[in-house]
Amino acid sequence: MNCTLTHFNTSIHKPPLSSTLNLLGLKMESKDKLKIAFTITCVAVVSILMANKFRKQRKRKQNVSSCYLTSEAKPQHNFKRILANNSYAPFKHLKLNENSPDLHPYESEIKTILEKSELEFEFSYGIMDMSMSDTYVWVDDESKLKGLVEVLNKERVFAVDTEQHSLRSFLGFTALIQISTRDEDYLVDTIAVHDIMGILGPVFANPNICKVFHGADNDVIWLQRDFHIYVVNLFDTAKACDVLSKPQRSLAYLLETYCGVTTNKLYQREDWRQRPLPIDMVEYARMDAHYLLYIADCLVSELKNQRNDNSASENSASLDDKFYFVSEANRRSNALCLQLFTKDLEASPGQSAAASIISRHLNDHGNSTNNSQFQDLVRRLCSWRDLMARMHDESLKYVLSDNAIVSLAEKVPSTPTDICTTISQADIDIDFLNSNSTPRLPSSVVLSHLDDFSYVIKNEINNLDDIFQLILKKHLGPNGSCPFSLYNYSLLSKADIKSSKRFVSKENGYKFSKKVARKASRELFVQKFSCKSPVYHNCTIYANDGRLLCYCDRRKLEWYLQRDLAKLVDEDPLAIMLLFEPKGRPEDEGNDFYIQSKKNICVGCGEGNHYLRYRIIPSCYRIHFPEHLKSHRSHDIVLVCVDCHEKAHSSAEKYKKKVASEFGIPLFVHKVVNSNEEQEVSGSSTSVLKLGDGGVSPLELRTAAMALIRHGPRMPPQRREELKQVVKKYYGGRDISEEDLEKALLVGMSPHEKRRLKKKRGISLNNTSSKNIASDDDIKGTNLDSALNKNDVCEPENGSNLDVMDPSEPNGSGNLSSEGAVFATCSSKLSLLGHGPHGKQVVDYLLKNHGEKGIQDFCQRWRQVFVESINPRFLPAGWDVTHSGRREFGDFSVYNPANKAPAAKR
Ligand code: AMP
Ligand code: ZN
Ligand code: MN
Repeated sequence: MNCTLTHFNTSIHKPPLSSTLNLLGLKMESKDKLKIAFTITCVAVVSILMANKFRKQRKRKQNVSSCYLTSEAKPQHNFKRILANNSYAPFKHLKLNENSPDLHPYESEIKTILEKSELEFEFSYGIMDMSMSDTYVWVDDESKLKGLVEVLNKERVFAVDTEQHSLRSFLGFTALIQISTRDEDYLVDTIAVHDIMGILGPVFANPNICKVFHGADNDVIWLQRDFHIYVVNLFDTAKACDVLSKPQRSLAYLLETYCGVTTNKLYQREDWRQRPLPIDMVEYARMDAHYLLYIADCLVSELKNQRNDNSASENSASLDDKFYFVSEANRRSNALCLQLFTKDLEASPGQSAAASIISRHLNDHGNSTNNSQFQDLVRRLCSWRDLMARMHDESLKYVLSDNAIVSLAEKVPSTPTDICTTISQADIDIDFLNSNSTPRLPSSVVLSHLDDFSYVIKNEINNLDDIFQLILKKHLGPNGSCPFSLYNYSLLSKADIKSSKRFVSKENGYKFSKKVARKASRELFVQKFSCKSPVYHNCTIYANDGRLLCYCDRRKLEWYLQRDLAKLVDEDPLAIMLLFEPKGRPEDEGNDFYIQSKKNICVGCGEGNHYLRYRIIPSCYRIHFPEHLKSHRSHDIVLVCVDCHEKAHSSAEKYKKKVASEFGIPLFVHKVVNSNEEQEVSGSSTSVLKLGDGGVSPLELRTAAMALIRHGPRMPPQRREELKQVVKKYYGGRDISEEDLEKALLVGMSPHEKRRLKKKRGISLNNTSSKNIASDDDIKGTNLDSALNKNDVCEPENGSNLDVMDPSEPNGSGNLSSEGAVFATCSSKLSLLGHGPHGKQVVDYLLKNHGEKGIQDFCQRWRQVFVESINPRFLPAGWDVTHSGRREFGDFSVYNPANKAPAAKR
């Protein structure tokens, strides 16, 4: 970016002659000379303006981001309830009950109205005061809006019109709603009360209250899109004009004909976001609704008096005939209410726009020589424009005009100056046609992301999906240049899912070609131990300014919602907006780890079909860390597939031995026991032995004993002898009995676990059925099938990290708070960790000699071991070997100790 800008700045002193010469090269008729001179001036002015803007932008942005949105505030950024976001996902309509299909929520009410043949259209009772008073009601807060609802509920009919803003928004939004009763004009500031507009839903859906619109086709849909407001019982004065075969059907015509007032419809195109709204716009807006009730009344009486020429009887029209026109107007009006808002969907982003630009161009210019290059570039630019418009919540037209796309594709400019000149030139050319020619800068989207053009233009990849992913990553990705908002957040998550799926299928292809035997045992393992539902819910929390704060689990969201500290902004996936200013953001010292959407895939290889939690810092150490260092360390719990788990675990076990010798604190305590005693292996023993002098871990012991009990007779004699040696070692080298094997299963277990195992074994021994014995597999550390089949894995031990796959652990608990649950049960797992006092002694040593820094360094070493063991390619961005682990919790944080205690009691 910097070098292109420098280049741009050095070339601004030369007016971009090449492009103006193109123009000069065309026919030089004298009447065109003025136009050309003007164009040159315009282009020169544009160049200087652009250069200045650039210089400013460069100064401003040297620190973080180059996107104009970091400094420009748009009114929609304050909206907290966004029903239609800019993603490619379909729009979700209001669901009145959970089981109803995705149809119009008021379909049956509307159909009832459609079928009515007799209607009462008595809009005005007696003479109506048509003149517009000086006063109107500006509705811009909740109490005023509720007041309006009260008023409307008492009416049998009211008139409505809406004003939209569409240039600086991708889908457009309602900027004003005008509602007129016979007594009052209300202007609803739908920017101020955007999030609570649902309050008006019931009155608009009330079939007993008629809503008069003029040309409601769009309004009906816009109200659904922005507020889930559905119009039921509509009288459309434009439809009435059609039924009456009026010479014109515009509101201006009706106003003039019936009310004798003239309006200037050019106000339609004004920027309705302005606040305060200029007085002339207020007047125009009121007028659009104020006279509608009167006009409707006039039209209804004409409809009633219209003679039905198709009527069979000649002299006296029957009652049915009398209502023929009224009911036809009614039918046509309410048919509009059945429309549903949908987002335009297309096979590939921007491609319908590209197709129409190309076909228009072919019509105008015929087949030119560089046709395919031209068309490819149009497609790439349209794809870019589509995504950038969605990301920044701007209209396509605002981002880059169709004309500019054509010009860029024709001229293929390469420098930023040439690109800008080409765009301004194209827009000046349109303005000439409109005889409204002020030099126009390329849009702020183009200006602040000019470096995109070099690769969109030059890039030879014609796979639009790849361009799409690239742009998305660059702008919205974890280190992207553009701000997240409620409008674009789901753009990112949807694309994430798509790309990770692609990787997964590749991995599977490779994995499944491995040995069949191994596959079978692995599948059993997966089935037993992998997480049964997605671990990460990826619920989102936004700050009160719409910035994404973090992804988290459902329980955390509910915590904030229950305390009225947040507002629900989306239901699927769940998203909330905090109503207070969180302390520090993102919550972790500028580390973007916590604002990652965590993928439910293996961080090692991307496998998505099965995964389990893996603790990077082995539990035997971590449980002895000071509380504040071990809480909520989602950073050091990752998802891995079974294969990566095996690799990582095996490396960790080797590294533990290294730690043991480095610190002089052995892993196992060797103890000779009497076979008649049930004893503690680890406990508080202080007898420290040197490693490798015959110590045996409880887990190794249990594994060997279990294997001998279950498979002993069928085992290769050599293997049986090896396992017997393991058990013998434990019993001091003496011969061992069946009973010794049974007892060895209990070594190192807590009383609870012992009871559990005894109970199970009791049953299985009584039945002496190997099938029942096989059910013991779900006891931690007895995963013998996989241990025995692992000819290629030297360590039969499935030790300390196994607690991560405890299937009894609540599945689906989230990335942060899941740890609370794990720690609540960890004391009972202590005895399973299998290394006696080793872990505690190491941690005590570190704390005593190096303090917390020692613990942090120690954690870093384990992260390094993990990284080296599986070379993870799918770690969340922001995951870092040097992650310090320091987090500060704000006053309202769910993790603030002051808040945590009462929450837990509930
Ligand atoms: P109206 O139904 O005339 O009140 O128009 C409602 C909204 O539709 C306006 O606020 C504009 O956003 C949009 N609109 C209607 N007609 C035009 C037009 N000719 N050009 C641009 N926008 C229009
Ligand atoms: Zn941007
Ligand atoms: Mn209007």
